[in-house]
Amino acid sequence: MLQLGLDIGGTKIEGLVLDANGEQVFRKRIPTVKSSYQAFMDNLLTFIADIRLTVGQPLSIGIGLPGAVDPVTDKIKNCNCLVLNGHDLWSDLIQALEQDVYIANDADCFALSEAVDGAGANGNTVFGVIVGTGCGGGMVVNRQLLMGPNAIAGEWGHNTLPGYDIQLDGLSQPCYCGKDNCIERFISGTGFTERFNQRLGSNLTAQEIIAAAELGDGEAKGYYDHFIDAFGRSLASVINVVDPHVIVLGGGLSNADAIYRDLPKAVEKYVFSKHCNTQIVKAKFGDSSGVRGAAWLPSMHAEAA
Ligand SMILES: [Zn+2]
Repeated sequence: MLQLGLDIGGTKIEGLVLDANGEQVFRKRIPTVKSSYQAFMDNLLTFIADIRLTVGQPLSIGIGLPGAVDPVTDKIKNCNCLVLNGHDLWSDLIQALEQDVYIANDADCFALSEAVDGAGANGNTVFGVIVGTGCGGGMVVNRQLLMGPNAIAGEWGHNTLPGYDIQLDGLSQPCYCGKDNCIERFISGTGFTERFNQRLGSNLTAQEIIAAAELGDGEAKGYYDHFIDAFGRSLASVINVVDPHVIVLGGGLSNADAIYRDLPKAVEKYVFSKHCNTQIVKAKFGDSSGVRGAAWLPSMHAEAA
């Protein structure tokens, strides 16, 4: 069966149809309508109806969104497309579309995509990490997403930075989640650039800071070295718990090649093993992994059943 994936974002919704081999059959983007939940639903259902008409074959449907389905209430929570929070999107879609619908967090979809036929396809256990605006993640074991009673598997970005020390890591960093010194404040693209620019009164991008470090700029080099050390501490704490075969990095910061040269050494320093055999690799499908993972959700769910 053909597989429709929908990646719902704050500004656009992307639709992608894959065949059973993961080859693209159809792809289209539309703006997200956020004036009300009903307006959002009308827009989404029209989009799906158009795709069904264009493709002309039965479609399985998977959806990735920047939030989660609460396992107790089935309602959307923690979604930065705010109009969805508190609504039972899952039931509403099943009723309107008269077929099964699978919904997962967008970082989970990224991890699933990379584990099924991306950069993590050769590993049984894959931790997918987004280092972009935020610092999300998803865990895939034997091509199945790890899903728990809190719908937060892989949310390592809101653990406290391991070994946080004010001398080493600087002043306490409040996070939007209400806690202090979350990994996300140090490792995400946003946290990385904000902390550097605040300190120096500059306005550099993450790529510019890393490029300056590579050219030997003392301030940038010291800052980058600390970032790699903090990243290594953070990943080592995950490796010590789940021991993944592959860690796949996505999001803006994952495009910096220097990370793949320096991060494995930093991880090895902190992990509970003399050597670390976990591969750390760049995502194969880049920004397309979210929508690809959404498309894979129904068939991977069926494979587990
Ligand atoms: Zn946090």
